[in-house]
Amino acid sequence: MYLSHFKAAGFRNLAPLELDFDPKVNLFLGENAQGKTNLLEAIYFLALTRSHRTSNDKELIGFGADFASLEGHVHKSQVELDLRLVISKKGKLAWVNRIEQGRLSKYVGHLNAILFSPEDLDLVKGAPGIRRRFMDLEFGQVSPEYLYYAGKYRQVLQQRNNYLKQLAKGGAKDQVLLDVLSDQLAQAASEVIARRYKYLADLSRYAAKAYQAISLGREDLRVIYRPSVKEISEADAPRQIQEKISQRLAQVRADELRRATTQLGPHRDDIEFQLGGKNAHLYASQGQQRTIALSLKLAEISLIKQLTNESPILLLDDVMSELDHLRQGALLTFIQGQTQTFITTTDLAGISREIADQPKIYYIQSGQ
Ligand code: ATP
Ligand code: MG
Repeated sequence: MYLSHFKAAGFRNLAPLELDFDPKVNLFLGENAQGKTNLLEAIYFLALTRSHRTSNDKELIGFGADFASLEGHVHKSQVELDLRLVISKKGKLAWVNRIEQGRLSKYVGHLNAILFSPEDLDLVKGAPGIRRRFMDLEFGQVSPEYLYYAGKYRQVLQQRNNYLKQLAKGGAKDQVLLDVLSDQLAQAASEVIARRYKYLADLSRYAAKAYQAISLGREDLRVIYRPSVKEISEADAPRQIQEKISQRLAQVRADELRRATTQLGPHRDDIEFQLGGKNAHLYASQGQQRTIALSLKLAEISLIKQLTNESPILLLDDVMSELDHLRQGALLTFIQGQTQTFITTTDLAGISREIADQPKIYYIQSGQ
C-alpha cells in the first residue's frame, strides 16, 4: 500500500499543507527543529491515531489552533481509500471514505505504518513498559482482535485495581466482586498472551532475517516472550493460560490486598532479545542494540505483509545519523522496492547514492 496524497492543518508547527507523495522513496530534508519529525508523526498518526512521542494528543495541536486535521489518500492492491482524522481538545474523530467510524478500532488498520525513530533504542535498553507498548501498538495494527482484547484487558485491570483500592481502604467488604473481576481478567489476559506468543514468534523469525542483512551476517538475533506468570508456556492454549493465571491470582491474593494493585498479567510481561544466546539488554553494544530495534521494525513490515497481503509504509526518523556506512547501505538495500518509505535527514550525503529509485525530496523550513 502507499499514501499518495496527504493534507494536514493545525498539527504541531506544520503550516497547512497538501502534498503528493512518491510511491517509493520520499526524503524530508531540513535543518533541526523545522518540522521533519512532526511531518512523520502526522503521517503515523493518520495511520494509527496514536503518536510515537506522546500519549497526550493535546500536545499535537498547533500552538494557537483549536484542533488538528489530517487527511490521506491510500492506495491498496484492490482498493483506494480516503482517511480523515480530527484531533480536538475533547478527543478524536475518524472517517473512512467520508463515513464516520463509531470506534477508533474500526478505523485503525486501513493504513499500516511502521516508524523507526531514535527513541526506539529504548525498546532494547529501556524498561519493560516500552516493550509492552510496542506489542500493543504493533500487534493492534495487524489484528483487530488483539486490539479488542488488549483494550478489554486494560479496562478490567483498571476496574480490578480500583476495587482492590476500595477493599484496602475498607470502603468495600466482600471479595465476591473481586472473584468475578479476577475471572474476567484471567480470560482477557489469556487472549492477549496467546496472541502475543503467536505474533512474536513470527516477528522473531523476520527480525532475525533483517538483523542478518543489516549486520552483514555477523550475529544471530532471537526474540522471546517472558510472561510474568512463569508457569505459562508457548504451547499453552488460551484455556490453559487462563487457568494458570487464575491459580497464580489465588496464590497472590493476600499480597494484592495489601498492595492494592494487580501483581501479574500481560501488564507485567516482557520480551527478551538475545544475540548469540546472550541477553542483549545486558550485553549488547550500542550499535547492536540500535540494529536490534531497527530489525524489529523491519520485521513488522514482513509480519503485516504476511497477515494482510499489503506492505505497510515505512517511516524512518534520523535513522542514517545513527548507523555506520556499511549498515546504512545494507539497510537501504534491504528495504529497496519493499515498501513506500519516508526518510528524514539533515543532509543528503550518503543517502541518494544508495537508492537506485531516485527519491522525491521535500525541503522543510519553519513548518513549510
Ligand atoms: P531535528 O532535526 O532536530 O529532529 P525536526 O525538523 O525533526 O528537527 P520537529 O521535531 O519536527 O523538528 O519540531 C519542529 C518544531 O515544532 C520544534 O521547534 C517544536 O518546538 C515545534 N512544536 C512542537 N510541538 C508543537 C505544537 N504543538 N505547536 C507548535 N509547534 C510545536
Ligand atoms: Mg526530528
